[in-house]
Amino acid sequence: MSSAKQIPAKEHACSKCKKTFKFYLASYSYTLICPHCGAVYENYEGTVLPTSSKLKNTFSPSLPVGTAGSIKGKQYLIISASSKKEKGTSYFWEEYTLFNPIYGYAYLAQYNGHWTILEQINDAPIKEKGKTSYTYQGSEFELFAKYTSQLMHAAGEFPFKVDFSDHSVVEEYVCPPYILSCEKTSTDFVWFKGEYVTADDIRTGLKVTNLPARIGIGAAEPFYSSINGEAFKKVCIAIAVIFTVLQLYFSATCHDETAFIKMYSIADSLNNKEINTESFDLKYGTKNVDIKLREVLLIDFNKCNRIFF
Ligand SMILES: [Zn+2]
Repeated sequence: MSSAKQIPAKEHACSKCKKTFKFYLASYSYTLICPHCGAVYENYEGTVLPTSSKLKNTFSPSLPVGTAGSIKGKQYLIISASSKKEKGTSYFWEEYTLFNPIYGYAYLAQYNGHWTILEQINDAPIKEKGKTSYTYQGSEFELFAKYTSQLMHAAGEFPFKVDFSDHSVVEEYVCPPYILSCEKTSTDFVWFKGEYVTADDIRTGLKVTNLPARIGIGAAEPFYSSINGEAFKKVCIAIAVIFTVLQLYFSATCHDETAFIKMYSIADSLNNKEINTESFDLKYGTKNVDIKLREVLLIDFNKCNRIFF
């Protein structure tokens, strides 16, 4: 597939709002939802039939259904978009269904401007007894969150029957930049593996603008991507300049001066008492002072009464 845009689209005229919308998977999609009014259709072998369901509200996803482009080196077509919410909270996020005729389906999630691409995995991660983490492909994934998700809005076509009454129990485990997500519904139990995608990669790969502003740090966001590259470079240059200026200043204003010198003799090597010197003045004002202990000899006075310096 050289470009996801080559997938031919069909058009369907919505019987509720009379507007048309496109769908791409022909008989492979199951649920179709009109993006204009939220009317729900079911697709039987390419025959689209209306249902009595209609979503109360429509929504405007950050990425329009039908957007095509590249994510992590694979070409995808966005065939549906959903808005979900954590039950009992006001946390919303977006989920997109992506399609590639060779690789199949993938999913893209967006929360607070942070993006993660996920694929379903068939080999379940391993949980050792007594641990809250999972091991998968040699990496340990720590528990990040556990919540119940509610589907709030949706648009486009889905390769499965969308059940708005079903709530998924989701567990997330992270090992940045990767994430494991386990979704349990009343009928299903599925594992996904995801990878963090920078907003710049989404912007460039899908050729889109006006993405949601990034807030905070993403669950699977690696440390390096949380730092703006250009800003980090400027900070490094500024620090280097400041240190160079300080080095030049101290080098230019330093003076070689012996401020204080005195010899002390300690008779008992086990004597840990502090030694207080006399006070002394610095001729050039407040400066850093280089303190040197010129020589230390340990003498056993029981055997020898001489001290050598
Ligand atoms: Zn409609």
